[in-house]
Amino acid sequence: MTTKETIELFERFVIGNYARLPRVIVRGEGCYLYDADGNQILDMFPGWAVSGLGHCHPAVVEAIRRQAGLLIHMDNTFYTEPQGVLARLLSERAFGGKCFFCNSGAEANEAALKLARLYVGANKYRFITAEGGFHGRTYGALSATAQAKYHKGFLPLVPGFTYVPFNDVEAMEKAFCEDVAAVMVEPIQGEGGINVATAEYLKAIRQLCDKHQALMILDEVQTGIGRTGKWFGYQHYDIVPDIITMAKSLGGGVAIGAMMARPDVATALVPGTHASTFGGNPLACAAAIAVIETIERDGLLDHATSLGQYTQQRLTGLQSKHPVIRSVRGIGLMIGVQLDQPGDRIVARCLEKGLRINCTHQTVLRFMPPMIATNEQVDKAIEILDDALTELSL
Ligand SMILES: *Cc1c(COP(=O)(O)O)cnc(C)c1O
Repeated sequence: MTTKETIELFERFVIGNYARLPRVIVRGEGCYLYDADGNQILDMFPGWAVSGLGHCHPAVVEAIRRQAGLLIHMDNTFYTEPQGVLARLLSERAFGGKCFFCNSGAEANEAALKLARLYVGANKYRFITAEGGFHGRTYGALSATAQAKYHKGFLPLVPGFTYVPFNDVEAMEKAFCEDVAAVMVEPIQGEGGINVATAEYLKAIRQLCDKHQALMILDEVQTGIGRTGKWFGYQHYDIVPDIITMAKSLGGGVAIGAMMARPDVATALVPGTHASTFGGNPLACAAAIAVIETIERDGLLDHATSLGQYTQQRLTGLQSKHPVIRSVRGIGLMIGVQLDQPGDRIVARCLEKGLRINCTHQTVLRFMPPMIATNEQVDKAIEILDDALTELSL
């Protein structure tokens, strides 16, 4: 099919809830995408942070092939080995918690909210979340997402959510009282523009939660599974949360979400309280096991740290030449470039020149290279961005 024919299919048969770029992607390999017109695109935002090992990593492809021939889906009426093994791998790399599996980030957050309510008891029902945060599109996750633009047309939301400014300890203290079930924040706000939580902030949340018998939930859907150079974003801080949620890069491209809770908290989720038909299916779990083993075997956490530093340094280097760049921030391979004006034009021009990046909150370019990217590939991306900024005379 030609690009035009595929786009026509979408116009007739697919609901138009995404602002899509006019390319049809047919294949991905490592850091590269290939479109139906034969163009190669260097992908520095693979799958919205899903393809953390790049596209079609051979270890993930092999694990999926092997598992697909054995058992693709099995419901949770029975036990399956991949789900148990994956839970152990995650538990050992975090705080020794127990896992519940689902299929997306929003679902992982729903599970966390429901578990928190069950654990703390019926008289504590309020959740505190941070402005600029993003937790997903289902009603609970949407209600946790403190951004008015996502609420438009959907009011009233689920009751019980209180929003406070991010990184503001005083506002968090003020919002707290005995009816709080949990606080849920991202250690680094992703969609919100790569805003890194301060150590003081997360520590204050931990202390407030302890003082008021509330739970600390960290949404690690974007920061998890090595993206920041550690397995989880919270590991850059001197705190341990009660619950973390993850999804995006966990399955190497396969849909999977997970919530991990402290073992004593996890006991509240008894049969009948929560479930997911596809959750923890062998295919998705086999892919996730391959992701974790690959990150470990290939030393990709350290690589993410050094490549992240290199990328930030190269981006900062562009600043003197292009004053449109105000600052560069982030941790590991989660990098934001703050512009002094909207960045959509820059993203579009980069794509024409064979580079995919993203822009969020209008003025923040997001660079989230896969963990398998090389310095040379980052150099190429910087060169294209540099040219695009020059051409647009920014
Ligand atoms: C993407 C994202 C979500 C939502 O994940 P979905 O899989 O789209 O439901 C939730 N939280 C954070 C931090 C995210 O980045």
